[in-house]
Amino acid sequence: MITRLHDPNYSRWAAQIRATGGCRQPIHLRGRVDHIDRATGELLHRYSTRTEPDRILRLPCKTRRASRCPTCAEVYRADTYQLIRAGLTGGKGVPASVTGHPCLFATLTAPSFGAVHTRREKHGKTLPCHARRDAATCPHGRVMSCIARHGSDETCLGEPLCADCYDYAGSVLFNALAPQLWRYFTDALRRRVAKSSGLTLRELRNQLTISFAKVAEYQRRGVVHFHAVIRLDGPDGPTSPPPAWATADLLADAVRYAASAVSAVVPALADEPARVLRWGTQVDTRPITMNGELSDQAVAGYIAKYATKAAECVGTLDRRISPLDDLGALPLREHARRLIAECFRLGALDELADLRLIQWAHVLGFGGHFSTRSRHYSTTLGAIRVERADYVRDEQITTGRLPLFDEDTVVVIAQWEYVGKGYSLGDALLAAALTGTALPASQTSRGGDAR
Ligand SMILES: [Zn+2]
Ligand SMILES: [Zn+2]
Ligand SMILES: [Zn+2]
Repeated sequence: MITRLHDPNYSRWAAQIRATGGCRQPIHLRGRVDHIDRATGELLHRYSTRTEPDRILRLPCKTRRASRCPTCAEVYRADTYQLIRAGLTGGKGVPASVTGHPCLFATLTAPSFGAVHTRREKHGKTLPCHARRDAATCPHGRVMSCIARHGSDETCLGEPLCADCYDYAGSVLFNALAPQLWRYFTDALRRRVAKSSGLTLRELRNQLTISFAKVAEYQRRGVVHFHAVIRLDGPDGPTSPPPAWATADLLADAVRYAASAVSAVVPALADEPARVLRWGTQVDTRPITMNGELSDQAVAGYIAKYATKAAECVGTLDRRISPLDDLGALPLREHARRLIAECFRLGALDELADLRLIQWAHVLGFGGHFSTRSRHYSTTLGAIRVERADYVRDEQITTGRLPLFDEDTVVVIAQWEYVGKGYSLGDALLAAALTGTALPASQTSRGGDAR
């Protein structure tokens, strides 16, 4: 800290840190940008990191994960909110008439892999966890009943009543196959909508598009489920109205049918029986309305919130774990540890190599995207980012930080090299003070992973 504060370049360093907006793990780049006159080859302007503090430029990491960088994840969350909202009410190039299109919020859950401690409420009262009058005793001698009324932050929530009975293999295989099940579901949904209107799939495409925006959420027991906005448009997407027969009721029926119809099969292996994995029986579909019980803001807020999360909330780690790591020594919740161990065990089987369970062990087997949209849903995150970059660029030109050149006459040649990320402990303390952000707990015990 003292070295940094006495550095003659300190104010420039502080400016760089402020420009990252409080990013917890800025990316370090070395390089230069040349502006060259297209006609004469003359060098009009050169920016180089040579004169920057530590001869590097620090840029925000732009992660989606709130656990890694709350500031950058907040930008991602806000962008996702805008994008989901535009698909519900218009804006960002989507016409406002989209509000008239049938649209619902669907939740596809995972099936049960064994009884877990849960907290349920009814009329504002907490119900007993698993009250069974004649509860069976499992082969491991545990009574399959729990009459506790659990608090909302009790660590046992999501943990099995008997860990030895719990189907850990089923749980991680479901996570691994969830992206495939989702694909099967969307295919089945199109077929069902076509069939119920007496059309072939090809005829359906000429009349109707089904758009999706979905997000994956981890339940405490460590399985993913999906929340999705599903909307019916005309053949050209949100700019065209769907045919009159395409109603919200027809969509809700088709969603329930498709969710119950699809399955993914894992053939029998060494010690494992063959499995047929399906969605859980609780398929929830609710219409999204502008003023009803489920508003567009609520849905957009919900999806955007989960888009910045991964599995860390169920007690796993926010980074890849190798089978060479000592699982017993890592700060894992016991339930997560067993799920990860199961990923390593099944991932070593040749027949399951395609599922890449070892690579995705830290996210308990799920290798899919956490937040996706179909092509016609609304604008894209890329378009929102370009809009913001253009705005920042215009502002930098008007405030004199970037030279104003005609884009047609100038060639811009950029050369960048990644040289690390993060902060030293001293820099982290100064950066937190400069940007008014909290210092991560991990920074109090160790430094950044670079410099
Ligand atoms: Zn960041
Ligand atoms: Zn319980
Ligand atoms: Zn048992």
